Amino acid sequence: MRTAICPGSFDPVTNGHIDIIQRTCALFDRVYVAVLENYHKPSRLFSAGERVDMLRQCSAKLPNVEVLAYDGLLADLARELKANAVVKGLRAVSDFEIEFQQALTNKQLNPQLETVFMTAESQFMYLSSSVVKQVGLHGGTIGDFVPSEILGAVEDRINSVLRSA
Ligand code: ADP
Repeated sequence: MRTAICPGSFDPVTNGHIDIIQRTCALFDRVYVAVLENYHKPSRLFSAGERVDMLRQCSAKLPNVEVLAYDGLLADLARELKANAVVKGLRAVSDFEIEFQQALTNKQLNPQLETVFMTAESQFMYLSSSVVKQVGLHGGTIGDFVPSEILGAVEDRINSVLRSA
């Protein structure tokens, strides 16, 4: 059984994330989407539980996906889940340096674990969770950036942040 992990903070999930998850599903028998629990950026919009719920809604039609929250080392999680590979989306050269460093560190910690880089689709090359937050918090429309299943929840949260500011 070929098993992959797609890790990330997913705050919030974007169409770019879902594209990578869907394409990983076509290549692997089982895909764990691992939500980084310990994510305390000041700009954080959603708790780990909320991010897990949103990913479950967005991946409901993908039968080989399981969503979970994790804390600690990805190399250990991969051992626990018997995963062969970590799949990461690469958008631009700017992603490369940190991703390469993480991949080599994970390989050192867990030599059985391969990191596979998947090229972002050209229409999602610019898209990140930060872009969604920046556009939304400045009153822009985010409907083209996030999956329809969670659009209402993301808009509501952005509106409540704006109201409390
Ligand atoms: P972000 O960079 O949007 O905050 P995460 O840290 O949650 O996202 O990223 C999780 C994974 O998804 C990373 O491998 C990242 O490179 C990938 N990813 C994020 N956005 C895109 C996108 N638009 N296209 C392809 N891959 C992406």
